Amino acid sequence: MGNVHVKIEPKLDFYAIIALHSNPSGPAIGGCRCIEYNSREEAIYDALRLAQMMHYKAKVANLNHGGAKAVLIKPKHIKNRQAYFEMFGNFVNEFEGRYITAVDSGTSPSDMDMVSKTTPYVVGTSAQEKIGGGASAYTALGVRRSIQAAVKFQLGQDNLTDIHVAIQGAGSVACFLAKELSLLGAKLTVCDIDQKKARDLQEKFNAQLVHPEEIYSVKCDVFSPCALGGVLNELTIPTIKAPIVVGAANNQLASSDDGLLLQRSGITYAPDFVANAGGLIYAAAMYNAHPENKIRQDTEAIYNTVMDLLTQAEQQQLSASEMADKLANASIC
Ligand code: NAD
Repeated sequence: MGNVHVKIEPKLDFYAIIALHSNPSGPAIGGCRCIEYNSREEAIYDALRLAQMMHYKAKVANLNHGGAKAVLIKPKHIKNRQAYFEMFGNFVNEFEGRYITAVDSGTSPSDMDMVSKTTPYVVGTSAQEKIGGGASAYTALGVRRSIQAAVKFQLGQDNLTDIHVAIQGAGSVACFLAKELSLLGAKLTVCDIDQKKARDLQEKFNAQLVHPEEIYSVKCDVFSPCALGGVLNELTIPTIKAPIVVGAANNQLASSDDGLLLQRSGITYAPDFVANAGGLIYAAAMYNAHPENKIRQDTEAIYNTVMDLLTQAEQQQLSASEMADKLANASIC
């Protein structure tokens, strides 16, 4: 179901991959990442895997869109950023609206402004990012709603008062999430490999600060991975003290077996592509020109999706990640 397209322009050190996970009922949406890779094969694999995950995310969030991902293999130095992203816009344009691009790791709204010079099939430009705080704000809202659902499911508590959340990463989503949580009375522990970002978050929300390697074993109610993928694995899961794991990072499980390991460890897990769908809901709404209140309403509804998923997983004796894959696959087929 996935297919891969490549465009190369040696003069600009431009090597771009667009992977589409097809959907007959609407265009595929997915961000454009611009990061370094060890090989072209690794980049193609990343694009395909992420496109499938974006499709799953769209389906579980009831969006009539396919999944996609663009990967720009970042050269050591982008000589002419304007020409580079205009070239990417040309590539996006070749799909005639079957692919809609957006911001991802290593790209910014100002890059999307450059992309918009050569294609209309882009969301997340500087002007759009001003709407409601942009994709990261809605991703954080969806993660906060998922935490509320998991807290209700696992601990029977209706509110987040004194719920202790350990957030891994102090980046864009984490900052919005910390604000959402602290407004509802949660206590926070934070970390980042970037000490300055971690300290800023600590000071702003009166949080505790730990070293990045200590975050898994913080005695808390919720561990929230908001940094990078693969962090839930056979080495880290046995060290997690929290009864709940919910975060924004994509592809948190190092392998599908780790979903089972979480289940066997008695940890309630809200699968990543369900909990972090707020950013995609936002991007789809920008493309479809939906009003801001609908974006908020649809993102808040992630609470019900997580609650239903956890309930069904328990009834069917499946891990939450197996249940999420099952629901996504059922709506794709
Ligand atoms: P970001 O780049 O702004 O923040 C990530 C932070 O993690 C950075 O501050 C980085 O220094 C830190 N970090 C990296 N490795 C770390 C480690 N080992 N320990 C602690 N901190 C570490 O990214 P973001 O936009 O906040 O996104 C966070 C995660 O959520 C990413 O995995 C992203 O793919 C995912 N996500 C983001 C969105 C969105 O709307 N931004 C949507 C869906 C998923």
